[in-house]
Amino acid sequence: MKKIKNYINGTATSFSKNYLNIDDPSKGEKIGEVVLSSKEDFNKVVESSQTAFSKWSQTTPLKRSRVISKYKEILEKNIEELAKIISEEHGKTIDDAKGSVTRGLEVVEFATGIPQLMKGEFSQNVGTDIDSWSVRQPLGITAGITPFNFPAMVPMWMYPISIACGNTFILKPSEKDPSCSIKLAELFSEAGLPDGVFNVINGDKDVVNMILENKLISSVSFVGSTPVAKYIYEKSASYGKRVQALGGAKNHLVVMPDANLNQAVDGIMGAAYGSAGERCMAVSVAVAVGSVADDLVEQISNKAQSLKVAPWTDSASDMGPVISKEHKEKILNYIDIGEKEGAKLVLDGRNIKIQGYENGYFVGPTLFDNVTSDMKIYKDEIFGPVLSVVRAKNYEDALKLVNDHAFGNGTSIYTSDGEISRHFTTNCKIGMVGVNVPIPVPMAFHSFGGWKNSLFGDHAMHGTEGVRFFTKLKTVTSRWPKSIKEGPEFTMPIN
Ligand code: NAD
Repeated sequence: MKKIKNYINGTATSFSKNYLNIDDPSKGEKIGEVVLSSKEDFNKVVESSQTAFSKWSQTTPLKRSRVISKYKEILEKNIEELAKIISEEHGKTIDDAKGSVTRGLEVVEFATGIPQLMKGEFSQNVGTDIDSWSVRQPLGITAGITPFNFPAMVPMWMYPISIACGNTFILKPSEKDPSCSIKLAELFSEAGLPDGVFNVINGDKDVVNMILENKLISSVSFVGSTPVAKYIYEKSASYGKRVQALGGAKNHLVVMPDANLNQAVDGIMGAAYGSAGERCMAVSVAVAVGSVADDLVEQISNKAQSLKVAPWTDSASDMGPVISKEHKEKILNYIDIGEKEGAKLVLDGRNIKIQGYENGYFVGPTLFDNVTSDMKIYKDEIFGPVLSVVRAKNYEDALKLVNDHAFGNGTSIYTSDGEISRHFTTNCKIGMVGVNVPIPVPMAFHSFGGWKNSLFGDHAMHGTEGVRFFTKLKTVTSRWPKSIKEGPEFTMPIN
């Protein structure tokens, strides 16, 4: 049975004797253990990151980029293995896991362009014989705290860019599926990354608090649930850290009466039920506008019934289990609440049984119709395969629903009207917006981030936002002595 330690200075190591179980969510069985790191482990990781920073930050951006290029090559050869590690501990289908590694790899590819991305600005003669330039310099030790649902992709939103910028990076992955992070770090070492530049420390909230309170760590990148994101944001800021904290979501997909209904239904299917709804960009609310509602509900229901719910080892599986027994219970409780609140339960995933996997954490596709904005199942993030259909009279009501919701991660509209689509993309108060695209996840060279309760901090992840987050701006104004006039000046210099 595997025993996952930390990865510090290029070696698997840990002092702590406390371990937590890792489960196979398909079977509901223990498949390993992960260390809950101690203060001693934490001190070692900080020391290693601090030592590595002095050299790595002096390594030229071009040399850093070459290590990252090599890493990209190695990752490409290891996609299958990484996907298998993810599926075993997370439960998602193998193709879905491969897709998520690929999306992470694209950030690595983006980070290879760091010599170009870190180029500064230069102005000649900002005053007579005075030149001025701005450069971006690394922060120092940076840290990332990540959720269970994307054990490769979400860490890869952070560390490739941080490290490309000349920082060192400490990753604290989710304790529910920690093995992938260790593999990602080992492969980076194989690519020639010096020891200590990328360290992984495992554990739960105790290690998170050690990170937040440590004075040598200069920034925190967080992705997870909203209450924890808010806590991380406030506490990190109080310790003077730069912070980006991405939280939960309740993404609405608006279907207009003029939409191509087949496309909308197909889009909703993957976006609502793919990865068992455990995606921050999952569609959990379909807003049916006007006359489209009855057909939409009927078609979603028909298609959702034919989805294959099975473990990742079954190549025909459309959707696997949810992450844990507790999370399954939480989702089932939300379905009970939805019924009590008066929503119409069209499809009930509570009693699904998979032969041979009776103890697995499976929840079947669930569909509610006639959900209203005052219901708890509408307001809360459920993070499972539960789709709510809300009926809106017209476009204006649909937009109001999107904008009044506390979360602002992603949204999408299905329509064949360019004017409506333009109005929607301009006026919705959401960070990532799709038009006839169900999950509008930005590519690596754009940036990922929501609004409202879905992001605390000023910077989104990756793309140029990532480079800005992981660097400090310095502006130099310079004049050579020969041109300096004799005697002091007491007025503001002007041209
Ligand atoms: P979580 O908030 O429970 O955990 C995230 C990380 O925080 C983990 O590493 C965990 O160990 C740590 N943590 C948990 N509780 C803590 C506490 N009290 N104090 C300090 N640290 C703590 O989230 P999760 O269940 O792993 O992931 C699912 C959540 O992540 C969902 O809400 C989902 O929407 C969100 N998510 C958001 C995005 C995004 O981009 N906005 C992406 C992926 C996931």
